[in-house]
Amino acid sequence: MARKEINKSKVTWDYSPAMESSSHINLKKKYDLYIDGKWVKPSSGKYFDTINPANKEKLSEVAHANDKDVDKAVKAARKSYKGVWSKTTPAERSKYIYRIARLMQERAREFAVIETLDAGKVIRESRDVDVPLACNHFFYYAGWADKLEYAFPNRKVEPLGVAGQITPWNFPLLMAAWKIAPALAAGNTVVLKPAETTPLTALKLAEVIHDAGLPPGVVNILTGFGDTGAAIVDHDDVDKIAFTGSTGVGKIIQNAISGTDKKATLELGGKSANIILEDAPLDQAVEGIVNGIFFNQGHVCCAGSRLFVQESVAEKVIEKLKHRISSLVIGDPMDKNTDIGAINSKEQLDTIDKYIKIGLAEGATMYQPDCVLPKTGYFCKPTLFMDVAQSSRIVQEEIFGPVLTIQTFRTVDEAIQKANNTPFGLAAGIWTDKGSRIFNLASKLNAGVIWANTYNKFDPTSPFGGYKESGYGREGGLHGLSAYVKLK
Ligand code: ADP
Repeated sequence: MARKEINKSKVTWDYSPAMESSSHINLKKKYDLYIDGKWVKPSSGKYFDTINPANKEKLSEVAHANDKDVDKAVKAARKSYKGVWSKTTPAERSKYIYRIARLMQERAREFAVIETLDAGKVIRESRDVDVPLACNHFFYYAGWADKLEYAFPNRKVEPLGVAGQITPWNFPLLMAAWKIAPALAAGNTVVLKPAETTPLTALKLAEVIHDAGLPPGVVNILTGFGDTGAAIVDHDDVDKIAFTGSTGVGKIIQNAISGTDKKATLELGGKSANIILEDAPLDQAVEGIVNGIFFNQGHVCCAGSRLFVQESVAEKVIEKLKHRISSLVIGDPMDKNTDIGAINSKEQLDTIDKYIKIGLAEGATMYQPDCVLPKTGYFCKPTLFMDVAQSSRIVQEEIFGPVLTIQTFRTVDEAIQKANNTPFGLAAGIWTDKGSRIFNLASKLNAGVIWANTYNKFDPTSPFGGYKESGYGREGGLHGLSAYVKLK
């Protein structure tokens, strides 16, 4: 699509399209299941399509694993745990994990393009955030594999056994890396299921793991839907469940494993607050708000989806924000200029549209820039909702799209009270010129991650996870490693 068709009236100048090429990627027409170091057909014989949400074109077909396939994968993981991986020296384990990281780096461009095609996220983000961070997670945990006694001094460290891992569609490769890297470093074996709408980079990761020469059965990758995930959760011989996804499914998993001795980490939904105090650098704060909710289409569990602005600067911030979102480029995610790509699936676009209607029915004032969306594919305009109440559904419930609610406050205490008044507690952002205010707010906000004068910054050394209905357990850093070990 020509740039002129997009944001017609608001873009101050036109960029020429700068398309990333997909000619270098290698995608098979059909993917089987990766079990015990081999590609095997699903026992049901069933496959399903994975599409590009930006143009609805089919990218490939992937296998639908059922409980028999899950059983095969768990048996392979158990055999290799007992026979090989738990006997592999930590230094050797570390070498394998480094090798995965380096092979991923070598194929970084291919991973980034496939992620963008399969997920709809903009290439700038897949290229600059998802893939480098995924590689860094493998590098980081490779470094711990032979230093576990320093990670947990004076304790005997043992792996848990077989880890069942289930990932969502918003950061497909990165979530796989968050889960596989610490599990392997601590000596566990893995059965991982990526989300049904974004299975391709996990399957490419299986190819890298294969090329890295990992012993068969150490990592098994099964594609499928919720039933495949449930079969992993319910399997008797799985020792640990690591899940990232919706709070609804998190609760199902929590119920399913209650009464068993399975360990679990659940990283669930969020409704994170971004708080702008009157002394904040406002232009930077506006960039932080945009980065927090509009980039990656709001498909971020920790998205700053509730904005709280101090009353004295509210009008100014909202004006600046409206101006800024009018210049965002919405369109083909493969264009390096695009800021907002495609919504991941029709179901997700329907959910977002449903919430936009709810917001309007609740009497909120909506602002959307006057831009033209691409004709094919799933797209949504960046959307602001003003005049919302604390009890509004669009303020309380996770939307998982480019929709921001805006509320004002007079005092810092009021901001804290409003920010904490949600069932979730994943992340928060604070914007102020004063360090003391940052410390005060950070100590009182119920959120697992708090950013100050920035938003959505990630690092493998830093733990990530939630409070309340945002789940429990941490991924990343030493905390992420401790979720995969038994300490004696
Ligand atoms: P989202 O709303 O982010 O798509 P979901 O929680 O629906 O999140 O999905 C996250 C992951 O959980 C996906 O891989 C999905 O297939 C899987 N899943 C869905 N239902 C279940 C279930 N009952 N048990 C285990 N995994 C499930």
